[in-house]
Amino acid sequence: MVETSFKYVILGGGVSAGYAAREFAKQGVKPDEVAIISKEAVAPYERPALSKAYLFPEGTARLPGFHVCVGSGGERLLPEWYTEKGIHLILSTEIVKADLASKKLISAAGETFKYHTLIIATGSTVIRLSDFGVQGADAKNVFYLREIDEADKLVEAIKAKKNGKAVVVGGGYIGLELSAALRINNFDVSMVFPEPWCMPRLFTAGIAAFYEAYYANKGINIIKGTVAVGFGTNENGEVTDVKLKDGRVLEADIVVVGVGAKPLTTLFKGQVEEEKGGIKTDGFFKTNVPDVYAVGDVATFPMKLYGDIRRVEHVDHARKSAEQAVKAIFASEQGKSISEYDYLPYFYSRAFDLSWQFYGDNVGETVLYGDSSPTSPTHKFGSYWVQDGKVIGAFLESGTPEENKAIAKVARVQPAVASLDQLATEGLAFASKI
Ligand code: FAD
Repeated sequence: MVETSFKYVILGGGVSAGYAAREFAKQGVKPDEVAIISKEAVAPYERPALSKAYLFPEGTARLPGFHVCVGSGGERLLPEWYTEKGIHLILSTEIVKADLASKKLISAAGETFKYHTLIIATGSTVIRLSDFGVQGADAKNVFYLREIDEADKLVEAIKAKKNGKAVVVGGGYIGLELSAALRINNFDVSMVFPEPWCMPRLFTAGIAAFYEAYYANKGINIIKGTVAVGFGTNENGEVTDVKLKDGRVLEADIVVVGVGAKPLTTLFKGQVEEEKGGIKTDGFFKTNVPDVYAVGDVATFPMKLYGDIRRVEHVDHARKSAEQAVKAIFASEQGKSISEYDYLPYFYSRAFDLSWQFYGDNVGETVLYGDSSPTSPTHKFGSYWVQDGKVIGAFLESGTPEENKAIAKVARVQPAVASLDQLATEGLAFASKI
């Protein structure tokens, strides 16, 4: 069987892989030293586009438009870029076995890839309703969204079921972005989730109230406090309805499920230390196995700012952790040192004409400020999180780039504040003066 050897192998071809490749090039890697092995058929791209402009009927995003690193305003790495740099893109290749002791990866087709240094960048996979034994969950036109081939199937179904009915299961990022995208495609959309309000892991009740009312005004039917327990199908095996635990039945031509993701660490079970569901790394993304690094969604890393360890499933961290790991690899080869990763959590989302950003930590007491009326023409409002008298988290809807920079600074600096009332009164002005 074929055996190929590389100095550096990046396992996974997603966001982290693309940003790692760019950093390898910046560090002056030689031709044929780096390989990206990915089960996807395309070069690394900005995954968040899949639940946004990829699904729009107009102004649609398509590759090569959103290959990395356009998401952070950088140069677009087209497949030719990798060829020019001598970075091997080994696509449509799934690794099914990893042996970290002998530094070997084996693909589904039986090829062996050897490496000196490995960067694990396998990302996450979706949690499936069939994992919970939901009946009929494998019906046709029930979609999950992680990779571009899944987005393509969804786009086909949107065209085939034009002006039909869609049910979105889940009230998180995917639920909110997909409900909006399907509505923009003129579907009659219902969104179902068990929690008392949408995005409960980040949003406060006050923040969520705005988005729920805004979505309702767009004609989206929000059903809270229940879950999907089964799917009806027609003679072709296509989904026809969604049965809810509270007894209601919703007609459906398309169902999109967004109930969370789990990091893809199974290949390495028992071979590398894990923590909080991810692969444990230090502030340089080095694991406890020599020459093995882990970045992006799979890495559990020290969060210097908060003195704990966390795993972060967001694109900003995927980019930055990849760059940090590659810098650390080169520094250690040259006997130099670099600063430890010092990450400020940053999450964002866009849907309809809305766009929010969040920085910092969402624990402690909260205060809402600004105009959070769903019918307001500006809908500019925000929230602060306060712990031990310090502002540690900040959220802003419809901020300008300067305003978003200001809330990021607040979350980083963690200024003391006299009272929640002061924040409620000053609102964005509090951030702007920091
Ligand atoms: P990924 O980008 O998922 O890449 C993992 C890669 O590894 C994939 O190419 C996969 O095929 C490959 N792989 C896995 N296992 C194997 C194997 N055994 N063999 C070969 N290849 C393998 N974050 C935000 O902050 N804002 C957003 O708006 C946002 N929107 C999103 C929308 C969608 C639809 C999705 C799915 C995610 C979104 N995210 C968003 C999250 C963000 O995209 C991820 O945090 C980020 O992509 C993680 O990067 P990664 O490199 O760790 O993993």
